[in-house]
Amino acid sequence: MNKFWSEAVKRTEPYVPGEQLNDPNIIKLNTNENPYDPSPQVTEATQNELKRKLRLYPSPDADGLRDELGRYFKLDRDYIFAGNGSDEVLAFSFMAFFEQHAIVRFPSITYSFYPVYAKLFNVPYEEIALNRDFTLPAENFFGADGGVIIANPNAPTGLYLDTAAIEEIVMNNPECVVIIDEAYIDFAPASAVSLVKQYPNLLVVRTMSKSRSLAGLRVGFAIGDPGLIEALNRIKDSFNSYTIDRLAIAGAAAAIRDEDYFQEIRQKIISTREWLISEMKIRGFHVLPSHANFIFVSHYKASAESLYQRLRESGFLVRHFQKPEIENYLRITIGSDEQMEFFLNALDSTILSSAGSTVQD
Ligand code: PMP
Repeated sequence: MNKFWSEAVKRTEPYVPGEQLNDPNIIKLNTNENPYDPSPQVTEATQNELKRKLRLYPSPDADGLRDELGRYFKLDRDYIFAGNGSDEVLAFSFMAFFEQHAIVRFPSITYSFYPVYAKLFNVPYEEIALNRDFTLPAENFFGADGGVIIANPNAPTGLYLDTAAIEEIVMNNPECVVIIDEAYIDFAPASAVSLVKQYPNLLVVRTMSKSRSLAGLRVGFAIGDPGLIEALNRIKDSFNSYTIDRLAIAGAAAAIRDEDYFQEIRQKIISTREWLISEMKIRGFHVLPSHANFIFVSHYKASAESLYQRLRESGFLVRHFQKPEIENYLRITIGSDEQMEFFLNALDSTILSSAGSTVQD
């Protein structure tokens, strides 16, 4: 604590992202990055931009990218806001739609950035308990006072709520904004973007970091009624006119254009996930049904903490959260087939056997 700190700094409890180790021998399965490179068209577009335009400021409204997203989602660009990663879009959304006197609801187990934003912006919140199986009790989100934010699929569980249930939550909160954070939706059946024209209180937040392999470029976006998008623009323009740089605008637009590449890697990850789930079950893991690019698992015998440590020693980084309800779970990002084979071999040869926890015993 420093005497020069503002009250906002004093009350924050910053989010702690998963470790970014630069050791090439480590297989990183801890931050839900995509194991595949971005589309070659992204490299080409960013290189072209690099050659030409860095002298000039980018479009303050990321027009090139919003137009591309508009074509993709068949929506006017007034329905789209783009930002420097979806974390920034979420932070702006808290500022734009949530108040200091009205309680916002989010699940007790979810993306741990939500309480961080709430504290930073002095927004009161209520954490709604999930069911014992980690499913979300939709009706407990009806009639919220200050707003709702839900990650769908949820993180770190990977569980997905269908569009009908999302619609119920949106319909039952006509007086406040419902934010659906769809960071992982491209690995799930359907997006709530189909509802935005019908509901002026629905904001869907998406990212290019996961399914489009662009975590390093930092691009996220929101889709919602033009009234909500205008509010986000007002916040952005009171904060930083140019949140997305030229390389990011050009690269993200190119990634959206390359639909074939996107479908190919998305499908690969989904099939690796389904294969990995069955392999993990054979090895005595309880695996939640995931609709994301990660799985959430616990072992019937070996503790998550000890598995986490043993995996780390064997060169695999996964995510373990020190939260009582989920302390016996690990979140494992879906890597390439080859990485997951190494991972399973490591489990078989050292980790599970040295934990005395093979399925046979
Ligand atoms: N929402 C959820 C649920 C996430 O897991 C993440 C990734 N940490 C984000 C948003 C942020 O993604 P980004 O800022 O890379 O777009």
